[in-house]
Parts: sequence; structure tokens; C-alpha cells
Amino acid sequence: MRVAVTGGGGFLGSHLCETLLRRGDSVVCLDNFSTGEPRNIAHLLSNSSFEFIHADVSAAVEVPGRVDAVAHLASPASPPDYLRQPLETLAVGSRGTENALRLALCHRARFVLASTSEVYGDPLVHPQDENYWGNVNSVGPRSVYDEAKRFAEAISVAYRTTHGLDVGIARIFNTYGPRMRPHDGRVVSSFITQALTGEPLTVYGDGKQTRSFCYADDLVRGLVALIDSSATGPFNLGNPVERTVTELAEEVLRLTGSSSEIQYHPLPVDDPTRRRPVIARAREALGWQPEVDIDEGLRRTIEWFASRPGSLSASAAAIRGGQDDGTPPPTADLGVLVPEPVGPSAVSARA
Ligand code: NAD
Ligand code: UDP
Repeated sequence: MRVAVTGGGGFLGSHLCETLLRRGDSVVCLDNFSTGEPRNIAHLLSNSSFEFIHADVSAAVEVPGRVDAVAHLASPASPPDYLRQPLETLAVGSRGTENALRLALCHRARFVLASTSEVYGDPLVHPQDENYWGNVNSVGPRSVYDEAKRFAEAISVAYRTTHGLDVGIARIFNTYGPRMRPHDGRVVSSFITQALTGEPLTVYGDGKQTRSFCYADDLVRGLVALIDSSATGPFNLGNPVERTVTELAEEVLRLTGSSSEIQYHPLPVDDPTRRRPVIARAREALGWQPEVDIDEGLRRTIEWFASRPGSLSASAAAIRGGQDDGTPPPTADLGVLVPEPVGPSAVSARA
């Protein structure tokens, strides 16, 4: 099978390319490295089954030769990344998704969309199954990502109903692992970077908000199962074991043996209070479930981060101060990026 992977130079995309190559597929990776890094795929370039195309998929998606499946992962995913690139995020979720759908249609290929648990917004139903429609603030700071992904789901379904395209939708819940950028601002990468460099761990809000963390290898297995199936879903892909953010901080401190302190900062605007996937649908239709528990996943991730000590101190400073390579200040401040806050909920922090 020849698979086009948009966003293949990113954290999850590079793991997906690697897994597909390992089982004998050919891979065409498309990326503009807006949030990905060339070093994520550097080790794949010598593989004759791997091709890389530097492209902004919001402008065009062109792949010469046969294509059997398109996995559309291109999009900023970390809140600081998408808040820094609001228009690009909306563009890649809308135009980028349609360009990727057209590529699939042109080849009658399977199309798999990397959607997100963010389509549930700050959920009023807990845990979340796929029948829940969500609670998204369409004019809040996170809307550039949430609504782009909701549009991406809608247009993918419309390509199925209008053109009979073979579409599958994955709603990915918080996933972590090697190749996250140490200063991408996501919670696992930030806490590990801070713990390994002796910086305080920056917990936003009261730290009682929850997330359910899935290890990258598990997630990628789910994506591959979805590529191989003909099911549409949407499918929640995530690990249903739920943690508070403070519990995660304590776990990272324990596993790293760090003596960093925990510091509390204001909660970002519209930060979801709790999140846990119901994965019964994926279990039944795809035969998929996560296998790596959080201790083991964190251990592997910490090991990977620790093997890159040079970049960690600069990254810790970037998370703290936000000045060095354009990385913005901690997510806690990002609500102020909304030009005109609308209504009390847009300006108030819960802690
Ligand atoms: P990432 O930022 O590491 O990867 C995204 C990749 O897309 C990057 O390599 C980036 O350069 C590329 N990209 C962005 N815009 C592009 C454009 N216009 N043209 C070409 N390439 C472009 O993030 P990730 O965590 O690997 O996420 C991958 C996908 O999975 C995203 O679609 C994201 O929304 C989705 N997802 C991830 C998570 C998670 O926890 N990691 C959760 C939910 C959804
Ligand atoms: N978070 C935190 N400290 C950080 C980064 C994030 O406490 O340094 C919190 C954030 O407010 C959210 C949770 O951790 O409640 C997960 O954040 P992340 O950005 O990783 O993912 P998302 O909010 O998209 O689920």
C-alpha cells in the first residue's frame, strides 16, 4: 500500500510514517515544518520506500503516482502552537482538509482524518462517547482549532455522502511520547522538561482538571487499524485512564526523581475541565485498545527527553519566558490573544 501522510514530519505523523514503513508500506510524507521538525524524519530519508514533499497542504496537495490511502494529520496540535497560528490552523483544518480529501478522491483512496477530543470542547457529558455533540465556544481562543476540526469532520462526511469516498475519522485524545518538542507547551512535554532541568512544574488552574493520556505507539496502532478498515466512525482513540494535572505533575516528579517544586498559574481561557474517552466503538470495530500504561509510557518518554539534555535548558527557558524562538509565554496568558473578549467567560480564569 502507498500511503500519503500529511503532517508526517510532526510528532504523531513521524511515528505513523515509521510504523507504516516497518510493515512494508510505501509512504509519501507531506509537511511544511510549521510545528514539525526535519529531524523527526531524518532517519527515514534513506529508506527507498519513503518520500518527502515539502508542502503547505492548505495551498495544494499534489502527490505523483499511485495513492492507496491518505492520512491527514497536518495541523498544529498544541494550544500555544494553534493560538500563535490562528489563521493557519483554520486554513489547514478547512482548505487543507479539502485538498487532502480531493487527493483521496482522485485516487479512490481511503481517507483518514486526525480529528480531536477538542470537538467535545469543555464537555458537559463525562466520559465522552462519540454520540456526544460537544460544548465548544465558537468565539473563544481555542475555537480556531476546535471549529477547524469540527469543519474537517463535517467535510469528510460530506465527501463520503456526496462522492462515496472511503472516509475514517479518529478523535484523538491527549497523546504523548518521544519526539514531542520539549517546549511545545503541552503538559507532558512541559512537565518532563521542567522536571529534568530543575525548573518549577507549571500547573495551570488548581490542577484538578483531568486528561486521559495515551502513549504514542498505542495511538499509532489505532490509526493504522483505522487506515486498514473501511469504517467511518468517528472513533475515539485514547487511553481511558484519567488523571488530574496535579497527579500527572507528581507522577513526573516521582519518575524523574526531580526535586522541582510545583507552581500554580492561572488557568487558560476555556481550558476543558475533564476529558476521558469511551473507547468501546474502537474496541469493537477496530479491535483496538491501548496497552502501555502511563508509568511505562512516561518512563519511555522521560528517557527520550533525557537523552537530549542540550536542548532541554533552552526549552525550559522558552516555556518559562517565551522569548527565545517565538514560543509564546505559558498557555496561562494566551487568553489575551483574543482581540475582543466576548462575555464574562472569555475573560475570567477559573483559578
Ligand atoms: P505536531 O504539531 O507535532 O504535528 C503536526 C504536523 O503538521 C507538523 O509536522 C506540522 O509542521 C504539520 N503541518 C501543520 N500545518 C501544515 C500545513 N499547512 N501543511 C503541511 N504540514 C503542516 O502535532 P501532533 O501532536 O503530531 O498532531 C498530529 C495530528 O493529530 C494533528 O492533526 C492534531 O490535531 C491531531 N491530534 C493530536 C493530539 C495529540 O495529543 N498529540 C490530540 C488530538 C489530535
Ligand atoms: N497544563 C498545565 N501546565 C502546562 C501545560 C498545560 O497545567 O505547562 C494543563 C492545561 O491547562 C490543560 C492540561 O494541562 O488543563 C492539558 O494541556 P495540553 O496543552 O497538554 O492539552 P489540551 O489542553 O489540549 O488538552
